[in-house]
Parts: sequence; C-alpha cells; structure tokens
Amino acid sequence: MSPRTEPLRTCTGCKQKRFKRELLRIVADPEGRVIADLKGKLPARGAYVCPDRRCIEKLDKGQLIHVLKRDSLLDNGGFELSTVVAAALRERVRSLIGMAQKGGKVVSGTNLVEAAMRRSPNRRWLALIAEDASEAIVTKLSARITAGGVPLRRFITREDLGMAIGKSPRSVLLVKDAGLARAVEEAINRYKAVCVREVS
Ligand SMILES: [Zn+2]
Repeated sequence: MSPRTEPLRTCTGCKQKRFKRELLRIVADPEGRVIADLKGKLPARGAYVCPDRRCIEKLDKGQLIHVLKRDSLLDNGGFELSTVVAAALRERVRSLIGMAQKGGKVVSGTNLVEAAMRRSPNRRWLALIAEDASEAIVTKLSARITAGGVPLRRFITREDLGMAIGKSPRSVLLVKDAGLARAVEEAINRYKAVCVREVS
C-alpha cells in the first residue's frame, strides 16, 4: 500500500494519528470482556492505542466505554488493560511458534540449536532463550548465536517455550521461517513496549 492510501487511526491515549498497522486494536466481546484484537479483525467497534505502556495507562474504563459505545464493560478481574494486552501478545508469540513448529521450522533444545548454529546460521532466523534458562546455557549459547548473526531474544519461561511446540520444557529454540521469525520478534517488541516501564 502506498503511504498516501494507508489508513490512519487516532490513539485513544495520546490522541496522535498513526498508521493503523502500528496501533493495537481493543474491542469488547458481547459479554463486555475487553480483548486485544491483535489481528485487527474482530467484528466489533474498536479503540486504537499505541503499543506503549504510557498510552495504554491513559485509557481508563470510562473512556473505553465511551469509545467502544458500550453501556458497561466487565472488569476482567480488576481492570488492567496493559495486562490484557500483554497476555494477548504472549499468546500470539506462543501461537506463532506453534505454527512454525507445525511447518517443521523449529529447532529446539541446547544440542540441536548448537548444531544448527554450527552448520549454516541465517540472520533471518530468530533465536529465543527462555527467561529462566540456566546461566551456563545462556552464556554458552548466546555467544554462538550472536556470532552467527542470528537475532536473539529472551522471552517467556522454559515451560512456555516447550508448551508452544507441544513438548517438554525447552531452554532455547530457533524459528527458521523468516516470516514467522519477523512476526515473533515484532510481537515480543510490542510486549516489551507494553510491559516494561520506561526508564527516563
Ligand atoms: Zn498513543
């Protein structure tokens, strides 16, 4: 799409106009539960917000009720929009990894990842090391992965990485599909922007 025709939306938090694809879409389901519509396709009135904790925190429940034109919204067990968005982004990362696994594009486990990195590392892959991986594994693998020019991110737990591919806990995995690798990295970047407080 050319820049001229690309749709713009206004962030409900900071009121700035940005490309629609850069913003997060928030909707409510028929019961009034707030959902992060990461694919932007749910058939409900949506509110747009920058994938940034500062903008998300500016949205209170009353404002969302107004923008989404609802009578009320459920509390999601304590109304915390950033928690809803973070959970959806974590789930998105897990489902993208699952898709890569189904397509035979995931290598997991310390030994296999090391072997893959020795053979023919590709900078369009993505390496994920679990946040709770042992320091020994982190030291050993991150040097090799970085030397191979493969982007490396720390994300979710060993148990979650394993679950994403239907296996036992994994400290490390490689996504070897360029498109899915990029999608996973983008979702992780958004997650960090939403969850990590700005140090200013
Ligand atoms: Zn904003």
